[in-house]
Amino acid sequence: MSSTALPQHEQQAIDSVPKRLLIGGRWVDGERGTLAVEDPATGNTLTEVADASPADARKALDAAVAAQGDWARTPPRERGEILRRTFDAISARADELALLMTLEMGKPLAESRGEISYGAEFLRWFSEEAVRIDGRYSVNPAGGNRLLTMRQPVGPCLLITPWNFPLAMGTRKIGPAIAAGCTMVVKPAEQTPLSMLALAQILGEAGLPDGVLNIVTTSTAREVSAPLIADSRLRKLSFTGSTEVGKALVSQSAEGLLRTSMELGGNAPFIVFEDADLDAAVEGALVAKMRNGGEACTAANRFHVAKPVAAEFSERLAARLKELRIGRGTEPDVDLGPLIDNIQRGKVSELVEDAVARGASTLTGGSSVPGPGYFYDATVLADVPTGSRLLSEEVFGPVAPVASFETEAEAIASANDTQYGLVAYLYTSDLKRALRVTEALETGMVGLNQGLVSNPAAPFGGVKQSGFGREGGPEGIAEYLSTKYVAINVD
Ligand code: NAP
Repeated sequence: MSSTALPQHEQQAIDSVPKRLLIGGRWVDGERGTLAVEDPATGNTLTEVADASPADARKALDAAVAAQGDWARTPPRERGEILRRTFDAISARADELALLMTLEMGKPLAESRGEISYGAEFLRWFSEEAVRIDGRYSVNPAGGNRLLTMRQPVGPCLLITPWNFPLAMGTRKIGPAIAAGCTMVVKPAEQTPLSMLALAQILGEAGLPDGVLNIVTTSTAREVSAPLIADSRLRKLSFTGSTEVGKALVSQSAEGLLRTSMELGGNAPFIVFEDADLDAAVEGALVAKMRNGGEACTAANRFHVAKPVAAEFSERLAARLKELRIGRGTEPDVDLGPLIDNIQRGKVSELVEDAVARGASTLTGGSSVPGPGYFYDATVLADVPTGSRLLSEEVFGPVAPVASFETEAEAIASANDTQYGLVAYLYTSDLKRALRVTEALETGMVGLNQGLVSNPAAPFGGVKQSGFGREGGPEGIAEYLSTKYVAINVD
């Protein structure tokens, strides 16, 4: 991978970020030298960041453990105000942070700005939750004793995040951990470490004490995290990423019965009934499918549309996707950036080719875009037959496969016919049907006549093999708290 000169403002955004490991409040080199960060729109190297060894990670955990006691005793208001100041600082620097994110991840600037705002909102939300960590006092039903419960920080955490939302997947964990009084080691994705390093710098400037947040960037994720997971001083693992890696981490965590939260893969069905407002359904489909270029765990993976409206829905969605402008996310008016790498693009191509070979028809797109970078056309496939891999595997790209159904029962059965259970989208104007189908969907979240569910004030998370635990909402902080019950003798 080559390195070419960037425009000055892009270079400045890259230069402004520390490139080393953050351990105990100091920026230090990694024992294994550096690793390259690439621009997925060009394939060129943007910069290098430190490459941590297992020994570096151990030092990061040492620092988190050393800071835990004081941090847990820091008044909740003080913890909350650090988060609030960080929210303000991120909001003030949104454009510069969005540029950084676009450079390392590829999505258009407008989408990066959206993620900066969404990601920062978790910090504001949890700044408000920090002061609402309460307990309970009650009388033993049989009389005599009193029952007191209190909630305390779980202790040092390991937080592992993916590349698709380089900031928000971090703030969803870091925000509640800080609010609850936990210290942490964060391991961002190798492909997108810069947004996380920038966040760490801003948290430091906002007054976060040394050692509370430690950042370990590495090219050897498994090697570096396995010893931490096996270390009895670690008390919690929160992971966002693929189901496959999540299962491996749960299995490693079983040895020490480590507390875990798992935000894993999705395969969201998007159901449109014949009574739906079709204009709204097409708009919602555009958001649910194309946000983040389809590289989202919440992305609508497959469209199940009632037979009488399936052809019209497919054609209208294709017409909208045809209008999207593909290009490097830093360019003006670009709607769709590149995929993260060639492996991901190869997987998208494979799934599309499989569906077409089985008889699906391509209404728009259907191929890779030649030239540098990892671009793939916005694609709509109609009449996708049962058995196509696209209907059961997570596509993680700008591809909308449409299949039709005849009855409500068939729609529900198709929607639930997956190992995943993160989110489902449902479009109908019939209130009774809306409630019936919502109750029958085996997912942690439902978008009802709405193509976007993510909201820092709401509990985000899945069921089945999409994982367990919730991020955001009042539930989000509970993941970082342990309940202690005290039996009090008052006689
Ligand atoms: P991934 O390959 O599972 O990687 C996620 C993170 O885990 C990265 O930091 C990665 O490091 C690290 N990792 C990989 N293998 C590891 C191992 N054996 N031990 C410890 N850490 C390991 O997932 P991804 O491709 O980055 O992200 C896409 C997936 O995330 C999709 O399936 C998507 O649905 C899911 N996701 C879920 C949610 C949710 O909230 N449910 C949100 C966003 C994304 P490296 O980068 O160094 O490989």
